[in-house]
Amino acid sequence: MLKGKVAVVTGGTRGIGFEIVRKYLANGARVVLFGSRQESVDKALARLKEENDSWEAAGKFPTLTDAKEVEKAILEVKDTYGRIDILVNNAGISQDTPLYDYTPEEFDKVIDLNVKAMFYAILPVAKIMKEQGGGCIINTSSMVSISGQPAGVGYPTSKFAVNGMTISLARELGKDHIRVNAVAPGVTKTDMVAALPEQVIQAISAKIPYGRAGEPEEVANAFLYLASDMASYVTGEILSVDGASRV
Ligand code: NAD
Repeated sequence: MLKGKVAVVTGGTRGIGFEIVRKYLANGARVVLFGSRQESVDKALARLKEENDSWEAAGKFPTLTDAKEVEKAILEVKDTYGRIDILVNNAGISQDTPLYDYTPEEFDKVIDLNVKAMFYAILPVAKIMKEQGGGCIINTSSMVSISGQPAGVGYPTSKFAVNGMTISLARELGKDHIRVNAVAPGVTKTDMVAALPEQVIQAISAKIPYGRAGEPEEVANAFLYLASDMASYVTGEILSVDGASRV
């Protein structure tokens, strides 16, 4: 579904991001994953190589909250591959601190990675996509961007902002044939969730209308669809993959 395309995936070393990288590679894309440390990038690339030696994957670890470092890394990808067809802004942190214990620094940390870093990556990529005649940007939102959450206000605030950036840029960049969408996962069994005791996972699952948490691969499938030509007229969409948790 992605033969010949070049993709950049931030936060691609584990969890949902890693599954997106695998899915894109398995569908013929060349992928550059961005992680936070050389060690985690190398580990992810080794796992991919072991799974399929012919997959074309590479990695970088710019500080995503540093606009200049991000721009440099993006321009290096363009220099190496000649184009960037797909940008997935997936790196993110969550937290659930009650308001009365919150610090301004904690709020800044969430907004810096979940919102500002997304903008820093989009800036140089959108210029490249415009020049090459189009492309597609997919941001990772969350079900809390629709329902909010009862603690850790920085996290849902950041994801509401992700939706706002997604819808607004879809409207602004449509004329340049750049599609901009987001995927809003519900509770997904990444390492963080899988590490919880079985009873806790069962309690969380019981509240999900579909009766269970999502698998990272199920979320990655939505990223595959949105990146593919099957979604050629889909832009400005926030696609929920959450077992109806948000409603
Ligand atoms: P995860 O913690 O397993 O992965 C997060 C990824 O972001 C990792 O690859 C990590 O390296 C990267 N990252 C974190 N901090 C970074 C930093 N400072 N600089 C660069 N990279 C950094 O989490 P996940 O569950 O796979 O989350 C991925 C995305 O999905 C996030 O945006 C998250 O908000 C969103 N999400 C997750 C769930 C869920 O239940 N797992 C639900 C809704 C939305």
